[in-house]
Amino acid sequence: MSFSRELFTSSRPRSRHAHWQQLTDSGQLLVTNGTRLFEVNQEILAQLDAASRIGDSAVEQLLGDLGVGHTDFIDDTPLQSAPLHALSLAIAQKCNLGCSYCYAGQGDFGGPAKNMPWDTARRAVELLIGNRLRGERVNLAFLGGEPLANRPVLRSATEYAASLAQDRGVNVTFSITTNGTLVTEEDAAFFERHGFAVTVSLDGLRETHDQQRPFKRGGGTFDVIMKRVQPLLAIQRQMQVSVRATVSPGNVKLRESLDYFLGIGFHSVGFSPLLRSPAGRGEMGLHDLAQLLEAMVECGFEFERRLIGGERYSFTNMVNAMRELHRGTHRPYPCGAGAGYLGVSADGELAACHRFVGDEQGAMGDLTSGIDRERQNRWLAERHVNRQQPCAGCWARYLCSGGCHHEVLARGRNACDYIRGWLHYCLAAYSRLSHARPDWFEGANRW
Ligand code: SF4
Ligand code: SF4
Repeated sequence: MSFSRELFTSSRPRSRHAHWQQLTDSGQLLVTNGTRLFEVNQEILAQLDAASRIGDSAVEQLLGDLGVGHTDFIDDTPLQSAPLHALSLAIAQKCNLGCSYCYAGQGDFGGPAKNMPWDTARRAVELLIGNRLRGERVNLAFLGGEPLANRPVLRSATEYAASLAQDRGVNVTFSITTNGTLVTEEDAAFFERHGFAVTVSLDGLRETHDQQRPFKRGGGTFDVIMKRVQPLLAIQRQMQVSVRATVSPGNVKLRESLDYFLGIGFHSVGFSPLLRSPAGRGEMGLHDLAQLLEAMVECGFEFERRLIGGERYSFTNMVNAMRELHRGTHRPYPCGAGAGYLGVSADGELAACHRFVGDEQGAMGDLTSGIDRERQNRWLAERHVNRQQPCAGCWARYLCSGGCHHEVLARGRNACDYIRGWLHYCLAAYSRLSHARPDWFEGANRW
């Protein structure tokens, strides 16, 4: 059996309450409730195996006997009327690229290409910051389409948000996801001044990227982007410039992309499998996800090697997983979508997130009438992970939290083996790294 298939198999749920595995010289137990990790001996592993053959209540009983049972950290009560702390503006519903898999229908979300007017952006900023209390933190994100296709409003909105936040004593951060083809030196200076988190979409090295992300008019974009991002990479201090790569069946050579992009000065590099595209083109099937898992683990092992050797190697998926396991992250929703995070369309409609812009399923009101709390609360009740299947029976449910709503609502849950296989590897890596580099986990600045 291939390595990834072994990971698929060994990470399948034996209990909804826990997951356990044999490591080199000890055993590891993850208690789902509260994401609590314990080192255990062979005898306990054997008892867990035996209990799981009897059934879930036997595992629950055993956890209680072992003293690691606990009242539920997360109950079935959904969030209600969550306070807003992040907004993304579809500042330009248009794009100069023609990526076949684009969730935004190549930028225009299936409608006429348009820019967000300044007045709409202003009202969005006021919705985000106007009601926040002194000392609260909020994030304003610019997405599209390609946000730099509406540069004047992007800049005005940023400056207005910075000044409003200062007046109110609110801490605002900024982020942008860009295709990188329109970035200028002045943009770089502007992003640096406002401490942006800049994410550039790059799906691999030249050949792969150019196949995935060509100009609409035809022709590759890789060389243009590499030239355009130079000023960003050269001056990043306050800002962080990262790569996000969408992985489709043709581009699972992750390690070479990771090494290349980190080598030329990107702050970090992360990968996301393509699980949903408008016409189903390029979506990852089970075989592709098995290949992806092997490639992810290869990058993970390199991360471990470099971290133990004292080198910086900012593989985003791994850094995030280590951070979450260390914190014991347990959450009933995969992201803030429809809760503390909303998207705003160019016309001022509110959506559960940037991907739900123009999609009735995720409609959440508009800037004129405000957040539709009834729709929001219905969404939060329906999307709670304990209401999802097969999540309610899965040990990974408070780490994975049911997967991206946008992908799941369209395609169902077809990546569970991949998600659990990756977490299974990350759990073992966490055990190794927390012994080898406890200082990294305790450090205030973990990159
Ligand atoms: S989506 Fe996540 S939580 Fe739900 S069953 Fe799949 S792996 Fe488990
Ligand atoms: S629903 Fe999906 S795309 Fe939207 S914020 Fe959540 S994870 Fe991201």
